[in-house]
Amino acid sequence: MKLEVVKTDITVVGGGLAGVCAAVAAARLGQTVALVNNRPVLGGNSSSEVRVWVCGATAHGTHRYARETGIMGEMFVENQYRNIDGNPYIWDLVVLETVRAEKNILLFLNTDVHEVEADGEEDERVIRSVTGWMMGSERRIRFESKMFLDCTGDGLIGFLAGAKYRIGREARHEYDEDWAPEVADDITLGSTLLFYTIC
Ligand SMILES: Cc1cc2nc3c(=O)[nH]c(=O)nc-3n(C[C@H](O)[C@H](O)[C@H](O)COP(=O)(O)OP(=O)(O)OC[C@H]3O[C@@H](n4cnc5c(N)ncnc54)[C@H](O)[C@@H]3O)c2cc1C
Repeated sequence: MKLEVVKTDITVVGGGLAGVCAAVAAARLGQTVALVNNRPVLGGNSSSEVRVWVCGATAHGTHRYARETGIMGEMFVENQYRNIDGNPYIWDLVVLETVRAEKNILLFLNTDVHEVEADGEEDERVIRSVTGWMMGSERRIRFESKMFLDCTGDGLIGFLAGAKYRIGREARHEYDEDWAPEVADDITLGSTLLFYTIC
């Protein structure tokens, strides 16, 4: 299988909202970006595939006058203008068009990154390339950059690079967080059921 090589200043792995905002911000600062997402649509958890609404700033209406700003804010305003019924597929399009408007971004959908080439000590691993498989067209693509952003939602790229990691909750004294447990543990978020009701 022929290996294609894509060289850009930055490679962003994961096209959820974190990856999209990072890619757009970098592109606007003049960097060339490869944005690689393993699903056919951008938006990650917020996309029509999962449909988690984005409401961090408002805290579900508690902070009535708070809003996401920056690139998220741009997409929200566009979505409110074009998508008054909140159709999830139109939101997909708003996110896609935000990315497509940036000439510096090369977009790779349906491309699952599963190989990472890295070297250096555990504390200072340096990623040299990541390689993905584009489903459907059966292309194997290696992405080479000076910088890689792990926006997979699960820290997969860091893990595959051999970076140090931990799972669970930190102890309160580590970051002075009031709600953290006194002693670190391995508890993580369990399953969440997300459903819509229509009356
Ligand atoms: C059920 C549920 C309810 C939630 N409710 C809220 C809420 O009410 N308010 C709120 O603010 N937050 C909520 N969240 C959390 C919020 O969805 C996440 O914090 C947010 O989606 C994180 O965005 P992200 O871009 O980092 O990751 P994600 O949205 O997970 O995006 C990651 C992207 O990377 C892609 N990817 C993963 N691995 C690879 C790979 N190897 N190669 C290529 N691409 C890859 C994925 O397909 C995806 O597109 C909820 C989450 C869930 C699951």
